[in-house]
Amino acid sequence: MALIQQFAEDEKLETEKRRAAAEENEGGFTCTICYMGFEEGVPVPLTDCVHIFHRECLEDYTNNSISELKADIICPEAGCGKKMTQYDLKQVLPAERFKKFTDFILD
Ligand SMILES: [Zn+2]
Ligand SMILES: [Zn+2]
Repeated sequence: MALIQQFAEDEKLETEKRRAAAEENEGGFTCTICYMGFEEGVPVPLTDCVHIFHRECLEDYTNNSISELKADIICPEAGCGKKMTQYDLKQVLPAERFKKFTDFILD
């Protein structure tokens, strides 16, 4: 019993380590929308999950989501699932577009 428990603990630790490494990699500054680094463009970290994307890429992405009438815009990182906050959207969208969007979700 104790051995099985130990094994489960080890496996958990291993998963944790792998996740941390993967996160470090992703934080290793490639935008997963365009797969380019941040030598060019403006990097914008999302508030909740701290995934980083180019402002321009996020703008395209959010514009697409908005035109599909999604009220919740999910982080574009695969498997992330965190919502972009209004603060994120405000950074990404032109003021006019942001206002339209907030009018839409507050209606
Ligand atoms: Zn990008
Ligand atoms: Zn994310």
